[in-house]
Amino acid sequence: MQKENTVLERFTEPEYRHPLDANALLLRVTQGCTWNRCHYCYVSRGFPFAYVTYEEMEEQLRAKAGLYPPDTRVWMVGSNPLVLPAERLLRYIEMLRRYYPHFSGIAMQARVTDVRRKSMQELRELRDAGIQELFLGVESGDEDILKMLNKGVSAQVALEQMLRLNEAGIDIVPMYMLGGGGKGTWERNAQRTAELLSQVSSKMISTTGLTVFRGTPLWDMRAAGTFTEAPEAEKIMEVLAFIRSLKAETFLYCNHYLNPVHFTAHLPGDKKKICGGLERFLQENSPEEIEDMVGRMFKASL
Ligand code: SF4
Repeated sequence: MQKENTVLERFTEPEYRHPLDANALLLRVTQGCTWNRCHYCYVSRGFPFAYVTYEEMEEQLRAKAGLYPPDTRVWMVGSNPLVLPAERLLRYIEMLRRYYPHFSGIAMQARVTDVRRKSMQELRELRDAGIQELFLGVESGDEDILKMLNKGVSAQVALEQMLRLNEAGIDIVPMYMLGGGGKGTWERNAQRTAELLSQVSSKMISTTGLTVFRGTPLWDMRAAGTFTEAPEAEKIMEVLAFIRSLKAETFLYCNHYLNPVHFTAHLPGDKKKICGGLERFLQENSPEEIEDMVGRMFKASL
């Protein structure tokens, strides 16, 4: 995720959005995360959860009126704006329509648990109003890894909620964190995540590579020796094993800067070409060279 400036002074958390939504109209909706306990995450720590008033939404819309193309895509800013009641989200969208009646669709990040809180009728109403795509923090299909990361949601629940979103007609972009289980877990994590994501229809799967950020519980776990980070070569072996095992038609976006290698692929069409390239990369470079190339210790933010 990358950041831009906000027009609202009360909201000091940086505005994150997916790199592919660089040109979207950003509308601040929430700050903070209602969970805030994933062991690897620092983004919302120190930012108490808050949501914009209708007046604040109006203020943003006035400031951004006419600055974007009429058919602009819209990104609702916040770690999990979908946690808000459907009624409030629908009212925000109604206000947005007065300024941008022809916007093309709304995307945002969401926790799986936010989806579980919504009825099917509410999900359909949100889709009809313009919510087009949810970037879901799935991260892994392995129950033990999810528990170790303190994700607060199981793979089974993630599956159920992704299927509900498929049924409601809201596009999903599951986010998958390579190396999430630490050293020695690449094969298991790849297989379980591929099994999970093969059962749903995803518009895109977006990967990152686990990075141990200062100030997170994972940082302390690593210092205490209870967590060992996966070498970068293992993260590449993991994405390779994931692609080999995935039985779904989707677009794989491995271009976020936290990935150990960068590429995109239409699957299954590009499978052979991408797997061949990754195999060659692993053969031609030693694990030490790959560590140097990735430079994980220099990556300072999400
Ligand atoms: S990763 Fe997402 S759900 Fe987890 S604490 Fe961070 S913002 Fe919240």
